[in-house]
Amino acid sequence: MTETLFEKIIKKDIPADIIYEDDISIVIKDINPQAPTHLLIIPKKVIPKLSDANQEDQAILGHLMLVAGKISRQLELDDTFRLIVNNGAKAGQSVFHLHLHLMSGRVLNWPPG
Ligand code: AMP
Repeated sequence: MTETLFEKIIKKDIPADIIYEDDISIVIKDINPQAPTHLLIIPKKVIPKLSDANQEDQAILGHLMLVAGKISRQLELDDTFRLIVNNGAKAGQSVFHLHLHLMSGRVLNWPPG
């Protein structure tokens, strides 16, 4: 199977601005930021979409949320950020390796577009 873009980043085969890494996840800066802080929280396990995750992924999914909180505290985001998961091409997903967008640093309108 062809590697996802994020697998290549995880393997350090292509460069990225990595701001956090542990055994389960990696956090990078989005290359095309839509907010002053725009990070991607990515599991090292390849799960193409959130809707592909199953019971065995429960700990990974929980871990990603905890990493979001940890990063927000480390970066002093003033307890103000938004997490987004685009699930499927029609929802805007372009990289089919699950990731959470963490956005902060500007007013985040509701509803999102
Ligand atoms: P999505 O459209 O939800 O699948 O999000 C994919 C995100 O990956 C987009 O926000 C892109 O800007 C971002 N992206 C694409 N290539 C790279 C890269 N090489 N390094 C960092 N972020 C990237």
